[in-house]
Amino acid sequence: MAAKLVEIGKFDSLKQKVILEPNSKNINQKAITLSLALGVVLMLIKFFAYFLTNSTAILTDASESVVNVAAAAFALYSIYISNRPKDRNHPYGHGKIEFFSSGLEGTMIILAGLLMIIPAVYSFLEKSPITEINNGIWLVLITMFINGILGYYLISVGNRNDSIALKADGKHLLVDSFSSAALVVGLLLVKWTGQSYIDGVLALILAVFIIYNGVKILRKSVSGLMDELDEDTFKTLLEILNNNRKESWIDVHNLRVQKYGADIHVDCHLTLPYYLSLEDAHTQVGLFEDMVESNYPFEVEVFIHSDPCIPECCHYCQVKNCPVRKEEFTGIKKWTRNRILSNAKHFVE
Ligand SMILES: [Zn+2]
Ligand SMILES: [Zn+2]
Ligand SMILES: [Zn+2]
Repeated sequence: MAAKLVEIGKFDSLKQKVILEPNSKNINQKAITLSLALGVVLMLIKFFAYFLTNSTAILTDASESVVNVAAAAFALYSIYISNRPKDRNHPYGHGKIEFFSSGLEGTMIILAGLLMIIPAVYSFLEKSPITEINNGIWLVLITMFINGILGYYLISVGNRNDSIALKADGKHLLVDSFSSAALVVGLLLVKWTGQSYIDGVLALILAVFIIYNGVKILRKSVSGLMDELDEDTFKTLLEILNNNRKESWIDVHNLRVQKYGADIHVDCHLTLPYYLSLEDAHTQVGLFEDMVESNYPFEVEVFIHSDPCIPECCHYCQVKNCPVRKEEFTGIKKWTRNRILSNAKHFVE
């Protein structure tokens, strides 16, 4: 009977995922393709604006947009790869490549920021007059709006589908949009005050801002590659566990999560009554896996090590009519962050 439940449960969760999955992955692919295409157009506009105005700040902005195109191209490739199903060579799937993508994006942003410093300093030494400033401002404004809207769109799709490659590309474009806004302010100041050194000062400030954001994006992807505990994912899991716990699952501990893009691999210890037959224990493990898989919004693989209960567990064990109970039940222990993460049964505080 219980085994049959597992079968039905498995089928349901599979069906649900087949509907959910191709959609979210297709949308990621479309969003990043759009980013690449618009990135090329914006790059051309920015270089045109530089040739028009001769402004150092616009040149740095334009060179940085070369980075956008390269980063979006790699993000497109990595989202394409990460959408591939598991295979023999990659038994955990291909999702990790998204962390490389966002890491590369962060690194390229940092490099672009560093490279901006050179022409900025150079512009203090040799002043070439800025020309056609009005047209320059208009062109930069156009790229600012497109980058802002596109960046916001990529971040919202990235959040919904938990794609770090998309989120990194979106944040990158938002940063670019902010720097374009600063650029416009600077060009206006140059126009009103006639002081062209403002252009160089602004380029320097932009460079620092861009480097700071590159470091933030890089930091996030390193934490993904290092399998650092992802608090948001863990919070979701903890909620799923607490809302669906069953009395025969005496406790869950030593839970670890690895992220593969949006998909996760979970392993944990599950304490079960020691007298269960291997078949019954296997059924409980199956029910537990299925419960997590059907509640988590993306693909999950759960791997469980089962622990036999010991008398110290009895006071919080909810199994009714337990034939071997050694101590009275004194109350449920809530599955807290600490208890779930530590490598000990829940009688250890
Ligand atoms: Zn254990
Ligand atoms: Zn099995
Ligand atoms: Zn017991």
